[in-house]
Amino acid sequence: MLEKVLSKNSCAECRFCCSFRRQSLWELPRLPLEFAERYQAGFDGEPVKYIIEENAGMKYAITDLTGKYLTDDPEEEVRCPFLDPSKGCFLPEADKPFECSMWPLRYMEMPDGGQKISLTPTCPAINRVPLDEMKELARGDAGKKIRKYAETHPYIIKDHVQGFEVLE
Ligand code: SF4
Repeated sequence: MLEKVLSKNSCAECRFCCSFRRQSLWELPRLPLEFAERYQAGFDGEPVKYIIEENAGMKYAITDLTGKYLTDDPEEEVRCPFLDPSKGCFLPEADKPFECSMWPLRYMEMPDGGQKISLTPTCPAINRVPLDEMKELARGDAGKKIRKYAETHPYIIKDHVQGFEVLE
């Protein structure tokens, strides 16, 4: 979705957004229940556990990484079970979670109840892209796709967090 500003190679080499500290678990992609039924194992064949949650009246799944941390270190990161450390995400493009395709854009609910496309502040590659270009994407096709998907999958709308630049 963001090919104009984010090359596949940059993502394949980085994979920053596919590992999660405990405090970043809220960033896990929210998955359709059918996805969870279909992908019962990760890239290494190990079973994947899911947590079922609900937002905006609709159920969704997130991968359950809570039992995977080995230390008390808040900086410890645990990989998404679908990340092949040597090749990147092992999911076929068609099955890649929508939120992974739109990263580092987020669709967020603002304190006044409005919904805005916002930019995750921590993506190393996008931080080098001028903000105006990102605003243009949010106003253009990328924004349209996100808003359309959110109509049928409203659970992807996360509460706005300080530091996420509002793009529209
Ligand atoms: S599903 Fe794929 S792209 Fe999304 S966090 Fe997991 S490994 Fe990364």
